[in-house]
Amino acid sequence: MSAKQTYNTITPLFSVEVIEKRVSEIGKTISDDFAMLTDESPILLIVVLKGAFMFAADLLRTITIPCGIDFIHASSYGSEKTSSGSVSIKHNLAITDRHILLVEDIIDTGLTIQQISAELLAMKPASLGICTLLDKPDARKHPVAITYTGFVVPNAFIVGYGIDYNERFRELPSLGVLNS
Ligand code: 5GP
Repeated sequence: MSAKQTYNTITPLFSVEVIEKRVSEIGKTISDDFAMLTDESPILLIVVLKGAFMFAADLLRTITIPCGIDFIHASSYGSEKTSSGSVSIKHNLAITDRHILLVEDIIDTGLTIQQISAELLAMKPASLGICTLLDKPDARKHPVAITYTGFVVPNAFIVGYGIDYNERFRELPSLGVLNS
């Protein structure tokens, strides 16, 4: 597929400038909320791979307090453009007594983040917050308490800014809706 055809399949949603501004607002809010943490006990961002990697990298650069980073891999089984009822979670984390902020790309039905949260809460962190770039409330089936949201979006299939369709479109610097 040519570059022109690629862009014809995507309807722009959020530009580079809009994303940059919103990410920096969230980074400032997080920095204010966790200003009491020290170098000895920093906040730990846990990035849900793969889709949140670009958001997390930009977010980390806007946070002005001590901050660690680690990763968790989650994938759902099912058809290509819908979330399924089963999530595979892989990690090697030690988070007892740590202040954790989960960083996710999209919360859709809520199943993935609900299952990750349950698994991490069982490890007794000091606190567990959820930061998502995109929230699709109309698709929600499993209730989730989101702490920080980038953008509330309609129930469409979104790609770009690290978020893929079959490993494509992650490299796009902006966000758009993939036309079927
Ligand atoms: P949930 O478990 O909340 O239904 O689904 C969350 C995961 O499904 C996201 O982390 C993402 O991997 C995938 N997902 C949900 N909506 C979209 C979308 O619009 N575009 C893409 N590329 N993935 C999505």
